[in-house]
Amino acid sequence: MIRSLAGRRGGITLLDMVAAVMIIGIVAIMVVPRMLGPSQNAKRDTCHVNRGNVETQSQLWFRNKAAWPSSPLVDSIGADVQYFPDGLPTCPVDGTTYDLDPSTHQVIGHDH
Ligand SMILES: [Zn+2]
Repeated sequence: MIRSLAGRRGGITLLDMVAAVMIIGIVAIMVVPRMLGPSQNAKRDTCHVNRGNVETQSQLWFRNKAAWPSSPLVDSIGADVQYFPDGLPTCPVDGTTYDLDPSTHQVIGHDH
């Protein structure tokens, strides 16, 4: 027992280094996805809110003008500062714009 402890006094061995790197790697595999996950979820949540805003503002546009905003929205309702003072939002997930289905008057796609 004393002899084996004395033998370990040589410092850090390659095996110690490999073990340390493996432990750091395992911890990184567990932690990194958790750090990236909320950001992706936040983008999806923001897209969901954007969809709701686009549909609500389009319904308001319809009430005021007795016609649905024309496609593409960025040139009709998106250009009107009364409805979107900061301009029509774009999807934070894929960077595309929002548009309405001409028959259902709901946002097309963005089912992230
Ligand atoms: Zn989206």
